[in-house]
Amino acid sequence: MGLDQITSDIAAAERNAGREEGSTQLIAVSKVQPLERVEAVLKAGHRVFGENRVQEAQGKWPALKEAFGGVELHLIGPLQSNKVRAALELFDAIHTVDSEKLARRIAMISGEIGVTPKIFVQVNTGDEPQKAGVALAEVDTLVATCRELGLNLQGLMCIPPVDEEPSLHFALLAKIAKRNGLAGLSMGMSSDFERAVALGATHVRVGSAIFGDRVRPAG
Ligand SMILES: *Cc1c(COP(=O)(O)O)cnc(C)c1O
Repeated sequence: MGLDQITSDIAAAERNAGREEGSTQLIAVSKVQPLERVEAVLKAGHRVFGENRVQEAQGKWPALKEAFGGVELHLIGPLQSNKVRAALELFDAIHTVDSEKLARRIAMISGEIGVTPKIFVQVNTGDEPQKAGVALAEVDTLVATCRELGLNLQGLMCIPPVDEEPSLHFALLAKIAKRNGLAGLSMGMSSDFERAVALGATHVRVGSAIFGDRVRPAG
């Protein structure tokens, strides 16, 4: 538990997988964590954070960005059309693009305000009916659309089904990314980030293993 432990666990997983050390970016997921825990991780020198709700992030990150320079903020939760502008004013990366409509809106508004956020397409690797993410059969088309729109497309993101071995989903995501010529893989959370690193994750999203249990549900 804690930032140092997770950082060294990631380095060990990289070594075990024969990967270059430091090739995985750790996104510290600070949603619903008490401010003092977030500040402690900032004071320890970490600068890359993830939030899953635009509104919650708006409430805390403008001040934290001001107080601590060089923060990079990643949106890892669903993004509604009416929140795109607010999201693009605050976040440096969006991991949850899962429709052409959303991709178009992001392209339009980023052009207007002059930003080029890093973009990940979220894939519903389990083809779960209620789950966010583009269906497996539609990933290649959405990737092509993001490229046509000139988005700064980095790669793919997934959240495996809770009751399945995550490695199967990580391997599938890696395969789809490769087929599409994409290098970025946003996958792995507190319980499975080492398996994700073994399968090529470039970004792991770790919350509770860094900050401790969330004090209230993340919704
Ligand atoms: C909350 C969240 C995480 C982090 O979860 P932990 O289990 O606390 O590490 C990662 N990814 C997404 C999309 C999340 O919403």
